[in-house]
Amino acid sequence: MGDTNHYKVIIIGSGPAGLTAAIYAARANINPLVLEGNQPGGQLTITTEVDNYPGFAEGITGPQLMDEMRKQATRFGAVSKFEIVTDVDFSKRPFTVTAEGQNYTADSIIIATGASARWLGIESEQKFMGFGISACATCDGFFFKDKEIIVVGGGDSAMEEAIFLTKFASKVYIVHRREGFRSSKIMLEKARKNEKIEFLLNKVIEEIKGEKTVSSVVLKDTQSEELSEMNIDGIFMAIGHIPNTQVFGDKIDSDESGYIKTEPASTRTNIEGVFACGDVQDKIYRQAVTAAGSGCMAAIDAEKFLEAQE
Ligand code: NAP
Repeated sequence: MGDTNHYKVIIIGSGPAGLTAAIYAARANINPLVLEGNQPGGQLTITTEVDNYPGFAEGITGPQLMDEMRKQATRFGAVSKFEIVTDVDFSKRPFTVTAEGQNYTADSIIIATGASARWLGIESEQKFMGFGISACATCDGFFFKDKEIIVVGGGDSAMEEAIFLTKFASKVYIVHRREGFRSSKIMLEKARKNEKIEFLLNKVIEEIKGEKTVSSVVLKDTQSEELSEMNIDGIFMAIGHIPNTQVFGDKIDSDESGYIKTEPASTRTNIEGVFACGDVQDKIYRQAVTAAGSGCMAAIDAEKFLEAQE
């Protein structure tokens, strides 16, 4: 190929899924280009200790793990660019991917753009982002030593974050919009047993108040609609994630929540030659190791597809 902007495979995204796909694709000699996106290394770069990734008996930090994966991919010839994809054309092959105003073409595409934290979407939340509001307990918990904080949500993330935050905070309120929980029983029990944690059920945050940082919230009771205000130093959102598929629009089949649809036991999408792996197509497991596993599958699927084209 004389065209320096042409690749056999372009991998969009650089979390465990994207970088594992890059390792496998590079070792299979299909010269991958990795467009790393706006969070190089993905969600693990905003966590500290990773204790459940096999092979690290003593644990490893998220950023370190991702650096190692990137180094491993580039060792075998993967090209990594810190660029954000702004458009794609999957209507004809070679496919076109636009990043930073530049067009790249590829015979196959692996989408590994992951998912991002969901926010409440109220106006006052924007105002205090990073000033008392966070979606990452492991990143920001340290700033709330001896403070009173709220964790919003009723899933495993909310329980996990709340329990973790009791290491720093003097009091953690779990604010959840109903009485039923999505979280596993074991996590819920662990949170219930923690003396620093108190549950405020059937409540939603109506407004967040403060001068420079958060100082209070207005809660609305979801049953009586009654409003109440309480003083609080910080709020951690743990209300799930949204797949990063905005750039693909309706150019690829996705489900009602925006997750890209893949064929069972495969990473094939509805477009021949376009594969998806990791959290962008998985709302169930969402683990670094499962993302890495599906990244490996995507690279093998892409390699087979390219072979069949030749
Ligand atoms: P999740 O299970 O989808 O839970 C999200 C929670 O946020 C739900 O309780 C939901 O309430 C609430 N919520 C959503 N939008 C809201 C809004 N606008 N206002 C108020 N509340 C809102 O998400 P997750 O907890 O992040 O977990 C995702 C997946 O990762 C799960 O499969 C989970 O098991 C897994 N995970 C596992 C672990 C672990 O095993 N250690 C840790 C973390 C996550 P409703 O219930 O009313 O919808």
